[in-house]
Amino acid sequence: MSETFEIGLGNNDNNLRKKADSDFESFWDEQAKNLSWFSPWEKTLDWQPPFAKWFVGGTINASYNALDIHQETKSSKSAILWEGENGDSRNITYGEIFIQVQKFANVLKSLGVQKGDRVTIYLPMVPELPIAMLACARIGATHTVIFSGFSATSIKDRVFDSKSKVIITADGGYRRGKIVPLKDVVDDAITELDFVEHVIVLERTKNKISITSKDKLWTELMNNVSDSCPAEKLPSDHPLYILYTSGTTGKPKGVLHGTGGYLTHLHSTFKWAFDIKDSDIFFCTADIGWVTGHSYVVYAPFLHGATQVMYEGAPDFPDASRMWDILQKYKVTIFYTTPTALRMFMKFGDDIPNSFDLSSLRLLGTVGEPINPEVWKWYFKTIGKEKCPIIDTWWQTETGGMLISFLPGIETIPLKPGSGTRPIPGVNITVVDENGDDVAPNTKGYLVIKNPWPGMLLTLWNDDAKYKTVYWSKYENCYYPGDYALKDDDGYLWLLGRADDVLKIAGHRIGTAELESCMVSHPDVAESAACGIPDEIKGEVIIAFVVLKQGVINDSNVLEKQLVDKIRTDIGAIATPKQIYFVSKLPKTRSGKIMRRLLKAIGNNEQIGDVSTLEDGAAVTEVKQVFDELQKSIKENLK
Ligand code: ATP
Ligand code: MG
Repeated sequence: MSETFEIGLGNNDNNLRKKADSDFESFWDEQAKNLSWFSPWEKTLDWQPPFAKWFVGGTINASYNALDIHQETKSSKSAILWEGENGDSRNITYGEIFIQVQKFANVLKSLGVQKGDRVTIYLPMVPELPIAMLACARIGATHTVIFSGFSATSIKDRVFDSKSKVIITADGGYRRGKIVPLKDVVDDAITELDFVEHVIVLERTKNKISITSKDKLWTELMNNVSDSCPAEKLPSDHPLYILYTSGTTGKPKGVLHGTGGYLTHLHSTFKWAFDIKDSDIFFCTADIGWVTGHSYVVYAPFLHGATQVMYEGAPDFPDASRMWDILQKYKVTIFYTTPTALRMFMKFGDDIPNSFDLSSLRLLGTVGEPINPEVWKWYFKTIGKEKCPIIDTWWQTETGGMLISFLPGIETIPLKPGSGTRPIPGVNITVVDENGDDVAPNTKGYLVIKNPWPGMLLTLWNDDAKYKTVYWSKYENCYYPGDYALKDDDGYLWLLGRADDVLKIAGHRIGTAELESCMVSHPDVAESAACGIPDEIKGEVIIAFVVLKQGVINDSNVLEKQLVDKIRTDIGAIATPKQIYFVSKLPKTRSGKIMRRLLKAIGNNEQIGDVSTLEDGAAVTEVKQVFDELQKSIKENLK
């Protein structure tokens, strides 16, 4: 029996689930009516597996739903409370951003951007980033945002793939007090891309840049356009954006999202999960370069006319108190972050958050990786002071919005640390075995989605064939997310990590999340990663990497024994790692996720492949160094 916490908002709308269960199409049909449409749809869903079209025949515009609809009642309400890394701040109202977006939409038009064209956006976390996205959406251009930490090669590949004629960037962006020369990176990226006609440069840092014939300055362009640009009436399935996945499992995929279905999904889930109220101050820490930023920084809060905090820089800059300082300063009520960030905050100890007034908080969310129960409890107790429910949201770039989550806006159910609870209404999610048959409760298997949902990707950009093979070929007419899960006796779902990363030890299947959470529950451990490597005798053996909390001086031999004992008691002797390596860093993607495929490669002495999505190339070298040293000492001991 896992521990449960009875906490919620006391909301219980049983009707919603009943309606969704009886007919998911008419359920979503009802939800879509929460948006403003230019003309109604004739058909709720056109499902030609594996291609879904939602609200066929309806016309809509994302920018209109984000801005125009709020002008009468909220034009003086803050849309963005922006905090610069260097302490700058800006308060932008719904009225002001409406004007900026219309002007920038006219800028794009003046440069020849038309409906259906792709526009690449490579900007730091400044308000001009959502402004540029909403301006694209306004005229029907498909935006493709690239995280501002990517290199010239990554940009070149993505711009080449999407054939963007226009790139929007900045002279620089601030990261840990240094200036990242974004414009120089773009210059490098496009030297061979003749189809790129214009580069729009926002002056954020006043960093010195070289100006080429393709370059235009943001402010100069904005001075020469009108501040009125009516939103285009677009078909519901009009491509809103292309976004490349974070690349945890390999080469990033160009996920293509539509408009009407996607916005319906976001409008509903934002309300259900975050119970959004007019008075809330929402803060999602995700960079807009990732899907969480697209869905729950840009589109969902704007659809609801919410006020949000947007932060430019690194969460631990200039020191480990920055996040809590921001929460206190803006009186944040809803905070949405990642397990990786939480593990980092936890590593610094409780004194720092305890010295801030976090009493404005009412809801706490997490996304991106399985949250270790120990981290969940820390978030609940130290940050939420046991009065804020933890909303663990499972979803993917491909799903567009949350699919599994606690939804305190519509229901109160007991929480179990580490479980995302249940699917949202209107999706049929279950756990199956290799043959596609439902597994018994408490049995591990593959997560699958059995019906289309409104936020579902349209396809992979220019690659329908890959779309079919990656997501729709393992099981017939079932979406395969590639995650490993189990459903407990109460129907709660537990995400256990990537199916590709599953540890297969002597016929048993162990999820990486189970083993890692067990190690993280040791008081000295901050982070851990487990992976399997081939073994001549056993087929596969487990190796684990552990990062210790700050200031730990425990002897590694003692610690290793304690960890092994813990694994044996909590999971079973079968899950005992062959070796535990103590390292100072783990290799991660730029969105902060642990790259187990890389650890596996190191463990196998393989060449390390595409590392362009790594947070810090040095981490790989470091892990490899530690590993090599350990390998050497093991061999010497055997002599
Ligand atoms: P790629 O597809 O290129 O390998 P990625 O899967 O990391 O990259 P995302 O779409 O950002 O790219 O991440 C989605 C994945 O993140 C999910 O499939 C799941 O493995 C993990 N994930 C997200 N949220 C949760 C959560 N709440 N609990 C457990 N896992 C989660
Ligand atoms: Mg993925």
